[in-house]
Amino acid sequence: MPDTAARTRLATHVVTNQPAPPGARDLLAEDAPLGEALAREAPAWVTRRLAPLGREAGSTEVQALGEAANRHPPELRLFDRHGRRLDEVHYHPAYHALMHLAIDHGWHAVAWQEEGRGGHQAHVAALYLLTQAEPGFCCPITMTHAALPALRQASAVEARWAPGLLAWDYDPRVRPASEKHGLTIGMAMTEKQGGSDVRTNTTRAERLSGDGWRLTGHKWFCSAPMSDAFLTLAQTDEGLSCFLVPRFTPDGERNAIELQRLKEKCGNRANASAEIEYRGAWAEAIGEPGRGIATILAMVQQTRLDAATAPVGMMRQALVEAWRHVRERHAFGRALAEQPLMRVLLADMAMEVEAGLALSLRAARAFDGAARGETSEAALARLLPTLAKYWHNKRTPAFMAEAMECLGGIGYVEETPLARLYREAPVNSIWEGSGNVICLDLLRVLARHPASLAAVREEVNAARGRQTDLDRAWSGLEAELGAAPATLEPRARWLAQRLAQCLQGALLLRHGPPAVAETFCRSRLGGEAGPAYGVLPGDAPLAALLARIGD
Ligand SMILES: Cc1cc2nc3c(=O)[nH]c(=O)nc-3n(C[C@H](O)[C@H](O)[C@H](O)COP(=O)(O)OP(=O)(O)OC[C@H]3O[C@@H](n4cnc5c(N)ncnc54)[C@H](O)[C@@H]3O)c2cc1C
Repeated sequence: MPDTAARTRLATHVVTNQPAPPGARDLLAEDAPLGEALAREAPAWVTRRLAPLGREAGSTEVQALGEAANRHPPELRLFDRHGRRLDEVHYHPAYHALMHLAIDHGWHAVAWQEEGRGGHQAHVAALYLLTQAEPGFCCPITMTHAALPALRQASAVEARWAPGLLAWDYDPRVRPASEKHGLTIGMAMTEKQGGSDVRTNTTRAERLSGDGWRLTGHKWFCSAPMSDAFLTLAQTDEGLSCFLVPRFTPDGERNAIELQRLKEKCGNRANASAEIEYRGAWAEAIGEPGRGIATILAMVQQTRLDAATAPVGMMRQALVEAWRHVRERHAFGRALAEQPLMRVLLADMAMEVEAGLALSLRAARAFDGAARGETSEAALARLLPTLAKYWHNKRTPAFMAEAMECLGGIGYVEETPLARLYREAPVNSIWEGSGNVICLDLLRVLARHPASLAAVREEVNAARGRQTDLDRAWSGLEAELGAAPATLEPRARWLAQRLAQCLQGALLLRHGPPAVAETFCRSRLGGEAGPAYGVLPGDAPLAALLARIGD
């Protein structure tokens, strides 16, 4: 074959104008907004303890685990080869490795083991980092973490379960809890006829003559179905009540929990979500009969903060992917990162992540203060997760679409994490209270707990007088909040958005770099504020904003 022909053919194998393969990253050391937020919101030990996680979660090995856990989704194994019921889910080894990464280092337990001493900040920051390894496995981590405050309402149950739930030892074996080194917990509330309105639950609980209850009914969504127990709601004569349903009965038999099928989901593929049936399953009551919703709310308050934080971690991961790409890819004579429109877009996205992080970690500090009995922090803790959960999740799907677009065609291809992040983006908004329902919760908190709004006002007031858009936006908000409560419902989404953005603006004005704070307030609260990313004032200090992304 003539030389020229060989050269021509091989030329297609010479890759030019594409970024180098991704290498290992240190997700904590390279994230200046995270480092700064931790420095102001958490005691110093938190950053020290997170440092190895930042390196490990950003390592090429762990990133590959995240990809593998998604490419090989969990499989349902209903029966063994002889036809005996198994009701098990088989996960890829990558999923188990990720569970080890979180649990063997105590990130599911740190909030309680260091409660009131920075534990919540450590948990939230760890979740933000773990999400960047893979968001799906964070679901069982969150539920296991969040279950403890609900179990505290039944001290005998807590005494038996807490040691296993707090153990730094992921133990995936299918065994009775008493034989395991470490335990995980799921939750099963949603039924076919009602997920938001759980009062319509029809699962029935009957008191046994000895210890415990017997549950009969179907649950339409139950994630992490290999958990060792499920916090669940069922009807009793007293009304909707909360129960703990273990996988094994006290005498060591498999409990009557049948897995019906796994959901084939848009994203969140590494995590299994099942339909389950309680066929007279043995259970223990948690909290007072008839007070099921109030009891499980202790868990939901915790999951809500995680559902507010995970999207910020996902946005950070997507931002870094996009930034890495546009700095190495050239079009029309210069790097994409030097094109003015691309710079505005990424600067805008970087601010969104920084604002989200500031709000999540402030909320985490409020949880920690509440645990120490500080009343104004407890008041904040009631409201901030609701605001953050609503707003961060509303910002995420569009963010992922933009990040994907920064990579052009390959952003839409599964070999980059962007496609996976795009599919994952809506889920935190839907579960654990979908957008509208969260806004209704906001109205409830505002009506029942005026101290919570007062605490938010105090946070915002600390920054007032520094930036005119924030001052104007807050005055408008106060005027609207003064309306008769019955008239507020149609405006609840606007209120949630505005409260969240005012808080984010105030936090950035007090603690962030002035360039970020000023541009954030002008672009979110000022006259030109619009729904799309990449719309900033013409004189926005882009270099300073982009510098926040890091290398
Ligand atoms: C991947 C995944 C995993 C899940 N895992 C679990 C799990 O482990 N355990 C569990 O219990 N559940 C789980 N869920 C279920 C989830 O919590 C529910 O789907 C969710 O709470 C919404 O309930 P629903 O599907 O019944 O929707 P609906 O309650 O029918 O709501 C539909 C829409 O109507 C809106 N809406 C409801 N009421 C009002 C109102 N008054 N005004 C205006 N709008 C309203 C909602 O915001 C929502 O947008 C999971 C869901 C998903 C997608």
